[in-house]
Amino acid sequence: MIVHCPDCEQPLIEFDPGSGNYHCSNPVCNFQYMELMTGKKHRKSTKYEEIETKSSISNLDKKPKRILVGLAIESTLVTMGHSIFDKVTAKLKEEYNANVFDCLDNPQYLKKILEKNFDSNIRAVMIKSVKTILGEFAYYESIREFLDKLSDKD
Ligand SMILES: [Zn+2]
Repeated sequence: MIVHCPDCEQPLIEFDPGSGNYHCSNPVCNFQYMELMTGKKHRKSTKYEEIETKSSISNLDKKPKRILVGLAIESTLVTMGHSIFDKVTAKLKEEYNANVFDCLDNPQYLKKILEKNFDSNIRAVMIKSVKTILGEFAYYESIREFLDKLSDKD
């Protein structure tokens, strides 16, 4: 009797005669074996692989955005004056051991520093400038979130 793999249609093989377990020998098929007595089907779990692939894609995807956000902040600060640039980057380093490229993941760093060290007018100009630079990238969710958190009033 020939049993075919329900996934790839290849004939299944009973490795241990009499065991009733029919294995798919196709290496690229996710189907492992079928217990003929009970009809139970066993497949390779692909969950772990899927999760891993997804998270590595999103990490890869985040790196250029970190740079983008960092450069937007840097460019804004430099435009506003080198003393402002120096102050903010020094505070990031001093208080969080961070730099502008860490701000995508930690918008609160920049937000707190701006709140502590600059009045609301200067803050508003800075945030507006960062938003203007990043505006055209706001279709990326991570950038949208960053901008939302930066201008959040709490
Ligand atoms: Zn198969």
